Amino acid sequence: MANQLTIRRAFKDELRQATERGEWELFYQPQVTLSDGKAIGAEALLRWRHPSRGLIMPAAFIPVLETHSVAYEVGSWVIDEACAQLAYWRSRGRPLPRMSVNLFAAQFSAGNLEHVVSAALERYALEPGDLEIEITETIALRPDEHVLRSLNALRDAGVGIALDDFGTGFASLSTLKQIPVTRLKIDKSFVEDICYEPYSSGIVGAITSLGGRLGIEVIAEGIETEEQRDVLVQLGCTAGQGYMFGRPEPAEMRQRHGMWAA
Ligand code: C2E
Ligand code: MG
Ligand code: MG
Repeated sequence: MANQLTIRRAFKDELRQATERGEWELFYQPQVTLSDGKAIGAEALLRWRHPSRGLIMPAAFIPVLETHSVAYEVGSWVIDEACAQLAYWRSRGRPLPRMSVNLFAAQFSAGNLEHVVSAALERYALEPGDLEIEITETIALRPDEHVLRSLNALRDAGVGIALDDFGTGFASLSTLKQIPVTRLKIDKSFVEDICYEPYSSGIVGAITSLGGRLGIEVIAEGIETEEQRDVLVQLGCTAGQGYMFGRPEPAEMRQRHGMWAA
């Protein structure tokens, strides 16, 4: 037990150092219209470029980072960097419509999320509709005063709000009555077996209808094959994201692949 605490503490020190040394990077994955594969946006995904261990994926650090006092700082950097990249791509004639960023709960509890977002939008001369924030059920499940105030302020300003990993956790449908969601992201676990598991296709079809009834857009995550895409299209899903359309890649690589051409 004591040993585990020591390991965790050492890891937390490393995360602080990583922040001080600027070892965070963003990779970008396209979000597309399923019918023609055209980019409708991109999701910014955090990576840790460790000086000796190389590239580290979120699964290895997010669970600790999200409980760390630097989460707010890292999260604010993600917003700023993603906005800067969108503005840069646009300035280079690559009219990507929108950028999505994932948020830590700490970014809400700090109480100034609206200001962090509006400052970044202003800095890079972007419109609120150019940005979408992705929240998971950790944030959405029991939205407190801070969360609701920030989400409503962002929504009123025109920033998109996506509910990530939809359908997997404990967040009930009544969450949708409480928080001003503009997009549901169908979790990749449903897409993975959608071609042969009737429950998954049933759930995806229900989420798609739900989105239609509530006027909320729907996007499917984790699309890897044409078969999965075809089933999603049959079920009424029009937007998606997944290795089939492009893996998360550093900005320079995405640029070279020309993914954002209109
Ligand atoms: P997420 O937001 O649900 O992101 C989607 C994850 O699915 C990404 O994993 C992406 O690389 C992966 N993915 C995309 N397409 C496919 C596919 O076709 N097949 C499969 N198997 N996977 C696919 P990644 O980049 O490892 O990120 C994992 C999670 O870490 C994210 O899940 C998100 O919850 C969290 N995360 C990543 N970046 C950030 C960040 O900047 N801030 C916060 N707060 N969380 C982040
Ligand atoms: Mg996400
Ligand atoms: Mg997700």
